[in-house]
Amino acid sequence: MADGVMIVTGGSRGIGAATAKAGAKAGYAVVVNYASNEAAANAVVADIEAAGGKAVAVKGDVGVEADILAIFEAADRLGPLTALINNAGIVDEAGTLADMTAARLERMFRINITGSILCAREAAKRMGKCHGGKGGAIVNLSSVAAKLGGPGQYLDYAASKGAIDTLTVGLAKELIDDGIRVCAVRPGIIDTDIHASGGQPDRVAQLGPGLPMKRAGTAQEVAGAILWLASDEASYSTGAILDVSGARSIWP
Ligand code: NAP
Repeated sequence: MADGVMIVTGGSRGIGAATAKAGAKAGYAVVVNYASNEAAANAVVADIEAAGGKAVAVKGDVGVEADILAIFEAADRLGPLTALINNAGIVDEAGTLADMTAARLERMFRINITGSILCAREAAKRMGKCHGGKGGAIVNLSSVAAKLGGPGQYLDYAASKGAIDTLTVGLAKELIDDGIRVCAVRPGIIDTDIHASGGQPDRVAQLGPGLPMKRAGTAQEVAGAILWLASDEASYSTGAILDVSGARSIWP
């Protein structure tokens, strides 16, 4: 069984909720971070507790540094941190280059990129052997959009996930002597609320049948990969970026 605390940013819904539940099942005490949907976060915590696990819901916007500090302080109260899942992320309405405003880009990059970097900083302070910690793992949520580029729809989102790929490689190297492994997953189209939040509630239904596996992925399928990368079974994997995309990024 895993020990210590796992923080899942954006753990209230979708991939984060599935990861929080899988993390608790694996033995972690889980911080279920959320931005605004308290009921969803509480439901994840209730599910975990009903299964005999330990979890706490913590509100906080990863686009706000003070909130990030508060999330990590809440984790400190649960026990020693051993895993950070940098999962919280957003899309915006589908649009072309002409729709990209400075305000849109600032919000996208602040939440998807800056939030992940600052969360990694706080995690490294706690887990890093150079700081007296015992090491640990960070798993970042990228996307196959980082490879495909999101033309005509999500250029900004894809660019933010390209940054996450680069961050994963750089952090893996920088934190290697700290005993912290840093990996990422690149999901393809996964059946979660994120598509509705970008104004395309039917995206999974529309695109699913045309995907190589003739269906979208599930949040649980991504969570399985995340949990493995965070676990000691992945002890020789760092800087690894795993596609969980049903071949979307390599087909045809
Ligand atoms: P989702 O269903 O939209 O859930 C988003 C989660 O993140 C919610 O728990 C939400 O909290 C939280 N969140 C949003 N903004 C936040 C912020 N500023 N601070 C803290 N938490 C925040 O998303 P998902 O589909 O599970 O996606 C999770 C990750 O996987 C994202 O990084 C996404 O880019 C990536 N991904 C998803 C797909 C896909 O097809 N679904 C594909 C590739 C990559 P509330 O409940 O409080 O709103």
